[in-house]
Amino acid sequence: MTLPATMRAIRKLTAGEGLGIAEVPVPRPGPGEVLLKVTAASICGTDVHIYNWDAWSAGRIKPPVTLGHEFAGDVVALGEGVVDVPLGAPASGEGHILLANARHVVPGQEHLAKDMEVIGIDRDGAFADYVIVPRANLWLNDGALAPEIASLQDPFGNAVHTVHAQDVAGKTVLVTGGGGLIGLMTIPVARVAGAAAVYVTDVNQSRLEIARQLGADLALDARGDVVGAILAATDGAGVDVLLEMSGSAKAIDQGFQALRPGGEVAVLGLPSGAIELEWGKHVVLKGATVRGIYGRRIWETWHRMRRLLQSGAVDLKPLISHRFALDDFQQAFDVMRSGQSCKVILLP
Ligand code: ZN
Repeated sequence: MTLPATMRAIRKLTAGEGLGIAEVPVPRPGPGEVLLKVTAASICGTDVHIYNWDAWSAGRIKPPVTLGHEFAGDVVALGEGVVDVPLGAPASGEGHILLANARHVVPGQEHLAKDMEVIGIDRDGAFADYVIVPRANLWLNDGALAPEIASLQDPFGNAVHTVHAQDVAGKTVLVTGGGGLIGLMTIPVARVAGAAAVYVTDVNQSRLEIARQLGADLALDARGDVVGAILAATDGAGVDVLLEMSGSAKAIDQGFQALRPGGEVAVLGLPSGAIELEWGKHVVLKGATVRGIYGRRIWETWHRMRRLLQSGAVDLKPLISHRFALDDFQQAFDVMRSGQSCKVILLP
């Protein structure tokens, strides 16, 4: 297959708000790399942060760079030394790339290594016609999986990893900030994993409605008496497991208040800065186990996702609210920034 010389790419062109579309050379895969023709890419909250050029983005992003770290595509070219990937195979990529000189990498915890770069953040991503993925980061998709669903495996992996960071079978689970995309995804995952009940809090009413549709037993407005409602629902016991997705100090406090003594907590939500927490009351005296969650396990979480999607145990389609052509990226980002959307997909 002959590749075109140039392609479209949605890029952060200069420091500051907004994104632009540019015609750039089609990258050629280097040794150990694979080139994908992008079939679907989804917009993440992180992309909106980069669009808005918040403090985190300004410190991390080095323009010009092509965004997009949630994607699916077809393999169209192989770099030197890649011999085990069929051309045409549908694939996605684990976005966290270990640098060649990475040190202190713990087996089973590669996703937490310090020496890492991320596709669509530190190097060119998939809001384009083509994207480069190292073979070591390539995940071959089930051919029956729709590209738009395959593109959701990055955030879905966050949700699966968070739920399975502890045993939830036969346990009550509270998801604080559960109206966010990853929070919503944890609901069916926890249900399938055998959770006895799943309670969700958020401030976004339309997202709470989606949470109910996805099987939440209670979807509560976080501005109300969440703790009272959870204690009432659990006969005064409190929940066994807290999944914290909001990064909000108030929601974290509510979550710990609603946690039973000896309960377990998985924390994925990122506060924007230092927060106050009643450490003694909530963690020490309660004997709570607290785990930080970042990314997803390579490849354990991906195997689990494959089975969950293949078997039909989890259906992510209801989470997709909008689809746009790549050229209409501005509309797609406007919808994302309006808050009146769920998952927004770009189709090259
Ligand atoms: Zn993302």
